[in-house]
Amino acid sequence: MSQAPLPVPLLQLLAKLRAQGISDERVLQALASTPRELFLPEPLRPRAWEDFAFEIGYGQTISQPSVVARMTALAHVRPQDRVLEVGTGSGFQAAVLARLARFVFTVERIPQLAVQARRRLAALGLANVTVQVMDGSLGWRAHAPYDVILLTAACPSVPRPLVEQLAPHGRLVAPVGDLRRQELVRVVRNEQGFISESFGPATFVPLVGKEGFALR
Ligand code: SAH
Repeated sequence: MSQAPLPVPLLQLLAKLRAQGISDERVLQALASTPRELFLPEPLRPRAWEDFAFEIGYGQTISQPSVVARMTALAHVRPQDRVLEVGTGSGFQAAVLARLARFVFTVERIPQLAVQARRRLAALGLANVTVQVMDGSLGWRAHAPYDVILLTAACPSVPRPLVEQLAPHGRLVAPVGDLRRQELVRVVRNEQGFISESFGPATFVPLVGKEGFALR
């Protein structure tokens, strides 16, 4: 079967990601096969593969593709994994995760965003993703434990209820910091407890909820 050539901006993005040391071909392939334009408001679609976060309404943003790639790579997602994403937003990160994992549970506090994301994920035929409207700062106990938890909203510290929902050897990746600037943090659960490592700066919209920032 012949495949359409990849758009030039996507090829440029993939080259940039490889240069940044993101070498996991499964991650790059998952990203490249998820049409980001479907997750953007109409006027922004021609710019889909530019490496920017864009506004998606309700004061929220779709993450930069390089940040999606970096967080996904840090999480070491395996085909048998159960994944929780907190902060569905457009649904793009969930779609990338759905290509790599067995099950993806993604939660969003703004109902209108959840509805749009659900529609997009269904249109792509990604039947292993469940979108739920709720405060994800407390995790989603019903489907725990998770092999991977991704927080795609800034949190003041890694929410305790979330690390407790990690399976043995589970990985949580989150932007941790204040409202202006955060650090990407990965927490790994091992036999002794939790190991936390930092992976450089990031900027996300805030996690709002019990374990996040108070609503302004
Ligand atoms: N992953 C998204 C981008 C997320 S933007 C994408 O790929 O497009 C962060 C999202 O987190 C926003 O949509 C915001 O509404 C949501 N959010 C913030 N606090 C939340 C909470 N406590 N529970 C669930 N979602 C939350």
